[in-house]
Amino acid sequence: MNDFTGKILEVDLTDKKIKEKNLDKELYKDFLGGLGLGARYVYNNQVENVDPLDPRNTLGFVPGLLNGINLPLSGRLSVVGKSPLTGTFGDANVGGFFGSELKKAGFDGVFIRGKAEEPVYLNIRENESEIHEADELWRGSTKETIETIRKERGKNTRVASIGPSGEQESLISSIIFDGYRAAARSGLGAVMGSKNLKAISVKGNKEVNIANENKLKEIREEMVDGLSKKPSRVTGIIRKLIQPILPWLLRRGVTGYFDEGTLLDMFKEYGTSMTTSISTEMGDAPCKNWKGVGSRDFPYKEASKISDENVTKYQDRDYACATCVVGCGGIVSVGEPPFEVEEVKKPEYETLAAFGSMTLNNDVESIIKCNEICDLYGLDTISTGSVVAFAIECFEKGILSKEDAGGIELNWGNKEAIVELTKMIAKRKGLGDLLADGVKEATKEIDDGANECAMHIRGQEIPMHDPRLNPSFGNAYVTDPTPARHTKGGAGFNEMGATPNPFKEIELLEINRNEYEGKGNAHAISVKIQLLLDSLGICLFLGYFGKFPLLEAINAVTGWKRSKESLLETGERIQAIRQSFNIREGIHSYDFSLPKRVKGNPPLDAGLTEGITIDLDTMRKDFYQSMSWKEDGTPSEDKLIELGLRDVAEEL
Ligand code: SF4
Repeated sequence: MNDFTGKILEVDLTDKKIKEKNLDKELYKDFLGGLGLGARYVYNNQVENVDPLDPRNTLGFVPGLLNGINLPLSGRLSVVGKSPLTGTFGDANVGGFFGSELKKAGFDGVFIRGKAEEPVYLNIRENESEIHEADELWRGSTKETIETIRKERGKNTRVASIGPSGEQESLISSIIFDGYRAAARSGLGAVMGSKNLKAISVKGNKEVNIANENKLKEIREEMVDGLSKKPSRVTGIIRKLIQPILPWLLRRGVTGYFDEGTLLDMFKEYGTSMTTSISTEMGDAPCKNWKGVGSRDFPYKEASKISDENVTKYQDRDYACATCVVGCGGIVSVGEPPFEVEEVKKPEYETLAAFGSMTLNNDVESIIKCNEICDLYGLDTISTGSVVAFAIECFEKGILSKEDAGGIELNWGNKEAIVELTKMIAKRKGLGDLLADGVKEATKEIDDGANECAMHIRGQEIPMHDPRLNPSFGNAYVTDPTPARHTKGGAGFNEMGATPNPFKEIELLEINRNEYEGKGNAHAISVKIQLLLDSLGICLFLGYFGKFPLLEAINAVTGWKRSKESLLETGERIQAIRQSFNIREGIHSYDFSLPKRVKGNPPLDAGLTEGITIDLDTMRKDFYQSMSWKEDGTPSEDKLIELGLRDVAEEL
C-alpha cells in the first residue's frame, strides 16, 4: 500500500492513442513524483535535439508524490518538457487542484507527444480517457475554455487550458489551471499550442492509498496545529505602529521582525502581495528594468500603492490550493473604469513587481488588468511585465519610435500604455507580435542598443529577486538547468532571511550575504530541498511558516524507511538528471550568464545595493564543486554512477 498509483498515461496525439503504463516502483524511490519523476521520464523518452515545438517534444503533467492526500500545502504539480523559450530542460510548478485530481483518477502523470490534426482537448477519467475535438474552444480565452468543458464534463472537473497566446506559440505563454493558478515559466503553453492541444480535463474519485494512516493523521494534526497557532512577534497593531519607520529600517536591511508567526499572519491576510513595498525599498524587487534604485526611483510611498492592503481591498473572496490551510490566494475584481475586471486571481508579488516597480507603475488597478489579460490569454506575468519594461526603455532611448509602438507613448509609469501593450502582446498585434516571444527574440528585430535593455538568461526573463541584494539568486539563475528560476533560488532564500526549508529533519548551513566564497554547500543543500518540494508537491511557502516532520510523512505515506541523507541524495539525483538533459542537448550551464546590469556592472549609485558588483564566478565554481560537477557544469561520471545513473554516465 503506498501513495503512488504506479501508473501513468501516455498520449500520442498524432496517432490518437492513449495508453496506460505501469512504472517500475524503484523509479519513485529514486525520483519521487512531480518534477523528479517528470525529469526522469523526459530524459528517458525524449528524442535528442528535437525542436521544442516539434510534435516529438514530450510534455508532462506530473503531480507531486504527496498529492491527493490531505497533508497541508501538498497539492502542487510540475509541468515538464523541453522549453521553447530557453531550449533547455523546462519546467513550471503550479498549485490548485489538478495534481490531486489526477492522482484520484489513478495516474501519477500524463505525458503527451505528437500533434493532433485539429484542435483537441484531452479528457482524463479512470479507464475511459479520450481525445475530444476542440474546434469551438480554439481562439477562446482560458476562462471560456474552462467554463465550456465544465458544462460538458461536470462542474467539479479540473481543467488546465492554454489561451490564444499558447495557440499562437508565444514563447512566453503559460498554462492556466482552473482559472486561478498558472504554470507560467519556460513557455510550456506554446508546447501545448504546437500540439493543437487546447486543454486537459480530469475528474477522479479513487482514494489514494496510505501505508500508515494513523501516523499520517498524527503528522497532519501537528502540521495543522503549527499552521494555525503560531505565535507572532508582530501583531497587526504593532505592524501598523512601525509602518512610519519601516522604510528607514528596510533601507538598512533590518527585517528581523519577520518571524514565522508574522509571516504566516501576513500571508493569510495579503498573500505574496505583502512583500511588494518591502522588496522594492530594500532592492529585492528590480526597478526600472533593473537599472533603477527602488528606494529612490519607486520609493516606499509609491510601492505601497501596489502592496498588501492596497491590493487586498479589491479582494472579493479568499482562495486556497488543495489541502492548504494557509490560503495565500484571493479572487479580486475592479468595478470602475478604465480598468474594470470582473474576476481574476489576486496578483502575486512577482506580477506586482513585473508590472509595477519594473515599469514604475504605481496604479494597482492597471496591474490587476494586466494580470487578467495574462490569465485569459495565457501569458507568464514575469516575462510579460519584463518585456513591457524592456519596450519602455527602448522607447525612452529612442530605439523604438511612437510609430513602432502603434501610436502609444511608451513612457515609464504610463499605466494606459502598459495595459495597451500587454493587450497587443496577448493578441500578437503590431509591436506586441515582436514582444510575444520574449526580449531575446525581440532584440533580433529591433535596432542596435536593444540588446543592452534585454534582461534575460538564455531567453527567459529574470524573476523579481535582485542578485545585487541576495547574490545566491544570481548563482541559481545561471546554474539551474532551467535558467532564471527563483523557485530554485537555493541559498538566495537563506540570504533573504526567510528560508523555505520545511523539513524538520534537515538543517541548512549559515551563510553571509556579503561573502562569495564557501557558499557552495549551503546553496546545494537549499537547491536540493527545493527540488524535493517540487517532486513531493509541497508548496515552497510551507518553509516560511516553520519546520514539519516531512520525512516522517513520506515514510508514513509510502511505507519506505528513508533517511534524511537518502532524501538529500534524491534531490541531488533530480538535479543531475535535469542537468544531464541539457548536456545531452549540447547545452552547458557555464555558458549561462547574467546580464551585466543585473550583476551590478556598473553598480547602482544609491540604495542598500549601492556599489555592489556580484562575484558570480566564485559562487558558481563553489556550487559545481559541491555537486561534483565539472567546471563546465557537467556532472562527473563518478557522481552519476554514485547516484545510480550509470545509463546517463554512459550516454554522456
Ligand atoms: S500557501 Fe498559497 S500557493 Fe501555497 S498551497 Fe497555500 S494557497 Fe497555494
